[in-house]
Amino acid sequence: MISQNAIETLRKTEIGAQGLFIDGVQVEATGGASLPVTSPIDGRPFASIADGNAADIDRAVKSARKAFVKGSWSRAAPAFRKKVLTKFAELVEKHADELAVLGVRDNGTEIGMAYKAEPLSAAGTIRYYAEAIDKVYGEIAPTAENVLGLIHKEPLGVVGVIVPWNFPLMIGAWKIAPALAAGNCVVVKPPEIASLTLLRLAELASEAGLPAGVLNVVTGLGAVTGEALGLHMDVDAIAFTGSGPVGRRLLDYSARSNLKRVFLELGGKSPNIVFADAPDLKQAAVVSANGIFRNSGQVCVAGSRLLVQASVYDRFMDELLSATTRLRVGDPLDLASDVGAVSSAEQLDKNLGFVAKAAEEGARLVTGGERILTETGGSYMAPTIFENVTQDMQLAREEVFGPVLGVMRFETEEEAVRLANSTVYGLASAVWTANLSTAHRMVRAINAGVVHVNTYGGADITVPLGGVKQSGFGRDKSLHALEKYLELKTAWIAL
Ligand code: NAD
Repeated sequence: MISQNAIETLRKTEIGAQGLFIDGVQVEATGGASLPVTSPIDGRPFASIADGNAADIDRAVKSARKAFVKGSWSRAAPAFRKKVLTKFAELVEKHADELAVLGVRDNGTEIGMAYKAEPLSAAGTIRYYAEAIDKVYGEIAPTAENVLGLIHKEPLGVVGVIVPWNFPLMIGAWKIAPALAAGNCVVVKPPEIASLTLLRLAELASEAGLPAGVLNVVTGLGAVTGEALGLHMDVDAIAFTGSGPVGRRLLDYSARSNLKRVFLELGGKSPNIVFADAPDLKQAAVVSANGIFRNSGQVCVAGSRLLVQASVYDRFMDELLSATTRLRVGDPLDLASDVGAVSSAEQLDKNLGFVAKAAEEGARLVTGGERILTETGGSYMAPTIFENVTQDMQLAREEVFGPVLGVMRFETEEEAVRLANSTVYGLASAVWTANLSTAHRMVRAINAGVVHVNTYGGADITVPLGGVKQSGFGRDKSLHALEKYLELKTAWIAL
């Protein structure tokens, strides 16, 4: 783990003006424009990024296509790609302190979480796909004797990667690593408010020996660069994590351009269901508080709808309140902070809008509901709990993506399932019960990509992540993610 001393040194590092990363080098944006990078820790600008445009996306796609056609990556032996990606993973680990602090200055995630979830997790993901790629075989079809049917697995070509600001390195690696391992060339469009770590990642990839053009990063506004990537006629696939409205746009861009594949990991309104027979109510309360409030609730799988069985409701709410008020919100670069800053002043305003609406619609505020630590100039929000939330309220239906929890009570298992599934989303969920049969019935009954049992939020690279319904389609992580970046080709050979 990083030390406070190392953090204090790194927090003062000058970052300066960042260019785009195209064809293996940093270059200026075509228009020469830049965007300021403001830290949510204190509200002050501390760097700038290039404000890319459609011409820059075109440059990056051309560089990626050129590299793909040349074949020094796409047609290289998987063992070669494994070697370079393994070195890449090592470099990310070696620079973990630097990457973690840089990322926290950019998006405000508490360092204790960011350190593991960002550089260390990204390094682990890159290593996982590096190790996997020389174990992927083609197939021989069970045909008649006078033919040979071969099924080849080939890279798609140029893959566009668009990611959100909450965990840009971790989520970026979930897409970049399998895409590269499979032999594709990649153009990344980082989130405009947290681009710095992905730019650094591309430099480290180059240092590890990734050929020029194989991994490009174009910063800039989503509505400009993201749209240009989505509409580009020479991009074969887009792997996206972000909000539903932008996901819809990407499907539309694909329809209006070259029918590129689009993989969507979208938002959630995940139910966290506590039955009266939960093995340890206190523990369930502590984990549930962490499951919604860490990283200021800016976690796609956050358990933002808490359903508690009526017979233990009061006891559980006491435990939850005490776990919540114990969380220390503060400077995300202080190792003692449990919760850091909200990613931007705009996101904080949006969160406060949800609070106002919940109160107006009749939910009862239990704790929080306000901006705190205003004297820092940063964007901090108190962990917020509303109870008496009903299904028709905005707080029960829409994703806040902030530290705001809505609580409902239920009587029966049937009612819990009905409430849990009364949402357009289906990303994550949890069930707390000591009864094995209840647990298995709930796993089957809940419409979500993941159901946690007697925990919230645990996972690793070996298991897939993704949603059903309007939480998207396509899975990140695990060997299944490789399939998204590989095309099947049939060879039918008369013998
Ligand atoms: P967002 O949709 O606003 O932005 C995501 C990315 O899309 C950014 O890089 C942005 O620049 C880009 N973008 C914006 N407009 C675009 C356009 N018109 N065309 C193309 N690209 C465009 O989302 P956000 O606010 O950055 O992130 C929060 C959302 O991400 C939440 O809904 C959250 O649930 C979701 N999320 C999902 C997962 C998951 O794995 N399912 C993980 C993390 C976050």
